Amino acid sequence: MAYDSNNIFAKILRNEIPCKKAYEDNHVLAFHDIAPKAPVHILVLPKGAYTDMDDFSQRASIEEIAALFRALGQIARDHKLDQGGYRVIVNCGLNGGQEVPHLHLHLVGGARLGRMIGP
Ligand code: AMP
Repeated sequence: MAYDSNNIFAKILRNEIPCKKAYEDNHVLAFHDIAPKAPVHILVLPKGAYTDMDDFSQRASIEEIAALFRALGQIARDHKLDQGGYRVIVNCGLNGGQEVPHLHLHLVGGARLGRMIGP
């Protein structure tokens, strides 16, 4: 699937739409989800134009991959999620239920989250 540069996260990355920023470095932007599913719900994105995890895992540089995971851990610690634990979710494609076609990791925590996949 070709990258759609008009997707909403691409617009946020270009500062065309505001976000509640949680973290930023050269390769990564993270912001709070607009419809949080937990007390902490942060979306962690590579800045590069990657549609989903399949795309990222094939084309991203080692530096970009490392940056994404380093940032994720840092953001979790910044929000004190490392102590009680947290969950990272990546929806990929149709079966994964992905709605926005720019790779993003959902970092969720701050409460007991229950079952990983609902009934
Ligand atoms: P997914 O289903 O994995 O693609 O998740 C998309 C997520 O983006 C959902 O949790 C939405 O609530 C969230 N979302 C959509 N638009 C925005 C926005 N403008 N700012 C922050 N989060 C958003």
